[in-house]
Amino acid sequence: MRRMSLIALLTLVLATVVTAFHFQGEKTNTNGPVPFMHRPYYGNQTISQRTTSFFDHDKPWYVNDGIFVRRDGNKWTNAGIGSCTGGVNCYDGHNGYDLNLWFEAVLSAAAGTVIRAGWYNPYNHQVALGLWAADDHGYGYVTAYGHLSALTVSTGERIGAQWQIGTSGTTGSSTGPHLHFATYYLPNWNATDPFGWTGRYPDPNVVPDHYLFVSNPGTSYTVPDLSAHGSTVYPGATMIDDGAPGWSGTGTWTRATSPTDIKGSLHWATTSSGPVTATSTWQARRPSDGYYEVGVFVDDTHASSSWAPYTIYAADPNHPGTVITHIVDVDESHIGSFQGPFHWENTGPQWVSVRFGLVKAK
Ligand SMILES: [Zn+2]
Repeated sequence: MRRMSLIALLTLVLATVVTAFHFQGEKTNTNGPVPFMHRPYYGNQTISQRTTSFFDHDKPWYVNDGIFVRRDGNKWTNAGIGSCTGGVNCYDGHNGYDLNLWFEAVLSAAAGTVIRAGWYNPYNHQVALGLWAADDHGYGYVTAYGHLSALTVSTGERIGAQWQIGTSGTTGSSTGPHLHFATYYLPNWNATDPFGWTGRYPDPNVVPDHYLFVSNPGTSYTVPDLSAHGSTVYPGATMIDDGAPGWSGTGTWTRATSPTDIKGSLHWATTSSGPVTATSTWQARRPSDGYYEVGVFVDDTHASSSWAPYTIYAADPNHPGTVITHIVDVDESHIGSFQGPFHWENTGPQWVSVRFGLVKAK
């Protein structure tokens, strides 16, 4: 039943990225834990500006009891998944925030250790959070990131605040590309609202809700928009398409031409089981050391792999002469037109951002 096909119409783009780290000074907070969370995306839009679905303080474990309670104490009954206020959904039992991120870099909310990175259910990619990651930040707090299209971290990896951990998408139980962003207490994974509780009556959530965001949680930097649906490439980027200098392949590739390909021709191979029969390598020549964004273009009409692993080799900035190897997993079956858990979805062709410059040996 498992069908695996590998199609090499992926195009790599390297664009120089200036990285700004923001290490915030610690703030004392006598009423709760020290706020430690940053926004899980680039730019300066607030989480409220990005929110499409609130956290339900009434049974935030997906119990559909007809009662939805927002963090300010406002209550809606039988609001369902439909819009309850200002175009934002009150999804009964929702245990996190849904943020409007359309195939965008997803950042860790704080430093910590990656404790989940993979499919929520390896046997069914249409359910729950799909491709997801979770980070343990210590002091009992975990943040989780669901419905991703690409993962750039692995379990056990140490990460800093606002390091990229993947790209948003629409895997799992999802109606369209967005980020499901949830905060939990260990060891029982009880959902908590990182915006706290400001209602004038006791918080219905069974665990405490504290405001957890640092005073300036944004980033001053935005990820380059590599393409407008595959038609243009970010200025200054280097594109290495199949057949172009820097591209090489092994194994048996089938070639074809397609008007949807950016340059060159299509290279594709299929397997129904077993290991891949063909591989390809893209090598970029960069003028200097630095941090680079790698964009993978996924064609909407031809790419049908369920899962494409990319191994990225980069120089270690801290140890000259050492090569860092990093495996990035991209889900291709949820990009383009596909049957989602609720309906057919069409995301169009997409750039999946795999930022490897942030992978540093410690
Ligand atoms: Zn959600």
